[in-house]
Amino acid sequence: MTTIKIGLEVHCQLNTKTKIFCHCPTMGEDIPNSRTCQICLGHPGSKPLFNKEVMFQALKVALALNCKINKSFFFSRKTYFYPDMPKDFQITQYEIPIAEHGSLDEIRIKRIHMEEDPGKLVHKGTNTLIDYNRSGVPLIEIVTEPDIKSPEQARAFLNKLITILEYLNVYERKSETSLRADVNISINNGKRAEVKNVNGVKEVERVLKYEIERQKREGQKIQETRHWDPNKGKTIPMRKKETEEDYGYIFEPDLTEITLEDKTIETTKKNLPELADERAKRYIREYLINEKDATVLTQELILAELFEKISKKINPQLAAKWLQRDLLKLANYNKKEIHELDLDEDEIINLLELVESKKITDNVAKDLLIKLLDNKIKVKDYIEKEKLVAVSDKGLIEKICKEVIKENPQAVDDYKKGNAKALHFIVGKVMAKTRGAATPEEVNNIIKKLI
Ligand code: ZN
Ligand code: MN
Repeated sequence: MTTIKIGLEVHCQLNTKTKIFCHCPTMGEDIPNSRTCQICLGHPGSKPLFNKEVMFQALKVALALNCKINKSFFFSRKTYFYPDMPKDFQITQYEIPIAEHGSLDEIRIKRIHMEEDPGKLVHKGTNTLIDYNRSGVPLIEIVTEPDIKSPEQARAFLNKLITILEYLNVYERKSETSLRADVNISINNGKRAEVKNVNGVKEVERVLKYEIERQKREGQKIQETRHWDPNKGKTIPMRKKETEEDYGYIFEPDLTEITLEDKTIETTKKNLPELADERAKRYIREYLINEKDATVLTQELILAELFEKISKKINPQLAAKWLQRDLLKLANYNKKEIHELDLDEDEIINLLELVESKKITDNVAKDLLIKLLDNKIKVKDYIEKEKLVAVSDKGLIEKICKEVIKENPQAVDDYKKGNAKALHFIVGKVMAKTRGAATPEEVNNIIKKLI
């Protein structure tokens, strides 16, 4: 059996309005280098001003991840030469981070620290351009112990982490690049490979799967840093792993030591919002939905909020079933996550109200849900226009069944001779005539009775 040890260094962009060491906005204008100033461009002589909002957000995350908070901490310069960081050092935390020794489920968190994002390199043909809009966007880096044992567990950990950050309102799921991870992996107690700068959860899982196979095949005799090429789907060696000391960290003299008061920590802890696990428990208790539905529905905040909104209007169990089963299935099928779907909450409520009052059948509703996501139909108008209201009138269904029997004597004959498929054919014809507005079970029973 292969033993696998995975550790992650996860960089998450925080959603403060302004950057970590200057007043430039973190979001908005997308013209390259439009959201910059002397500080985030690293002009000589410019001095960083610490945005305390970053600290409050980091504190919330640290408390939610059960960390020990360091009441007094400071920033350091991590020296490196690369065009994404014109001052040739990144302001980060090294010696004393804001928090240490936490956990998320069975994974231990080694440390959490705050730092600035570097600029972004944009490769165009043989040229490389640099956009410093990202320079100075606040990051928290969450470092785990090598407790993760499989790519799937890494994915689950990251998804759960994102859920927590989202519930804490410190992170936007806007793009895969708002989460970047350095991935450490070793197998069978071999040396460790570190794959730098992997974008998003899916890519982390891909990298890990690739590395396990590669290390099985090639072995890993030296500790090294590798680069992931998402297009080729493979990692290539970059350099022998430097140690953290090689970065020549020095104390950042332009920022003072920061002290957190006990009162601040206590108040922040007391005011932490209800997180996904607690919310799932509440759903089971208050809405009487099952554990699986509750777990799935609370994974994305917008899904949870949609569920609560719908549950004010219709039966929560029905709402849970439709959101958990049908909406997520559709999202999966379209390879999208819930937040990527352009959901019209009112139309979904309209649709489910019709299901609840049995005015339309499940089949019609499933079909409408697809149309709702694709073409932005108005549910009530569409049903009216296409005459999709459920054929609850038994007499009418029977009439259609009789017609179909009359029109398909051969199939009726085949069925009588024992061909079960012929029944499906007849039922199918009836379903087509009622346009799915009758349930197959109903039609089945009537046909059997009539033949
Ligand atoms: Zn700036
Ligand atoms: Mn970092």
